[in-house]
Amino acid sequence: MQLGKYSIGVGDRFGMQAKSQLDAIIEARSRAVCVVPVWNKSYREHSIIGTKPADVRAAVETAVRDYAFTGEYHVDADHINMKNVDVFLDACDFFTLDVADFSGKPAEAQALRDFLQRHEGLVGRPLRIDGIEGELCVSIDEAEAIASKYLLAVQEAGKLYRHIAAKKGEGNFIAEVSMDETDLAQTPVDMLFILAAIADEGIPAQTIAPKFTGRFNKGVEYVGDLQQFEKEFNQDLAIIRYAINKFNLPGNLKLSIHSGSDKFAIYPIMRAAIRKFEAGLHLKTAGTSWLEELIGMAGVGDDGLEMARHIYAQAYERFDELCKPYATVIDINTVELPTPAVVNTWSAEQYCAALRHDQSNPAYNPNFRQMLHVAFKVAAELGEDYLDMVSKYEVEIGKNVCENIFERHIKRIFL
Ligand SMILES: [Zn+2]
Repeated sequence: MQLGKYSIGVGDRFGMQAKSQLDAIIEARSRAVCVVPVWNKSYREHSIIGTKPADVRAAVETAVRDYAFTGEYHVDADHINMKNVDVFLDACDFFTLDVADFSGKPAEAQALRDFLQRHEGLVGRPLRIDGIEGELCVSIDEAEAIASKYLLAVQEAGKLYRHIAAKKGEGNFIAEVSMDETDLAQTPVDMLFILAAIADEGIPAQTIAPKFTGRFNKGVEYVGDLQQFEKEFNQDLAIIRYAINKFNLPGNLKLSIHSGSDKFAIYPIMRAAIRKFEAGLHLKTAGTSWLEELIGMAGVGDDGLEMARHIYAQAYERFDELCKPYATVIDINTVELPTPAVVNTWSAEQYCAALRHDQSNPAYNPNFRQMLHVAFKVAAELGEDYLDMVSKYEVEIGKNVCENIFERHIKRIFL
């Protein structure tokens, strides 16, 4: 099973937007650009909402059938590990092996020595890599430090990969290795050694998700040094191209950008770089679609607005609890959060203006947006009341979901 060159992770918290997301994919196809949709939902999100991977698969299959969609699509077991992989085995054909928990913990001394010996050609001598200016020179100390930080993590990914392969059969699923939810970013040199270790473990990774320089907060703009990002992103692409040949990794191996929605400042950089390297890209978005559900609902006014206000008020009260699982991927300035009393006076237009990611609108509030990003637990607790409201305003919501995925994401990177 081979993942297409361009792909987009479209999370769907409540499993009700698969059709609208597919609309965006079909729109791209009508312009002769093939972007493969991958419905991703992590164990974290399933547990918060109370859904199962089979629910995602069912929602996707329904949308695919309704549209008689014949293109490639996948269902991703996002951020899984040994503890929770089994519940995803039947429903998924894409597995994001999350080994962030093991990064920074050293592997056994003998395994470290073997690894460094196997790759001694990369160490202590100038390396010329096509696409990287000048030469890379990795000292033995540096190589040891990188191996100590990442070798165990990749070994764990190997165990997880083999566990899945034993159940599903080699070649019947796509494997991604993700290390994005760590404290420290990985440099292009780290990436070189990580890919060497991935090849040693025999993981046919088709996507790799490093932690990039800068902050990738959920659902809002990139925060960081754009020049530095550009340099590292281009170098990562050069390293991947080199590693595919050097370590015999899958030819379609590409970068996966997690928390990739709404990073409008870096989309032109990524767009230019993947064209320059003729590389593929996987862009993971998830919560951005749930926020469009809220925008669509609030925008109709009336009971939709009332529910959207209620969800915010609840979230505001439960700030600590809701933010905790997302600590490394949100940054909310609480001083800038409107109180529920204020939000309860807002019109439909005011609510949508604060929430919709339109940086040219002075009323847009990224703190309000991030607060609501993690507030889907409140909606989940509303149960049928929430789902009924989504059904009631299906058309208005669907328009926002599709437009967001197509206009603000697919168009800016892939078209
Ligand atoms: Zn991630």
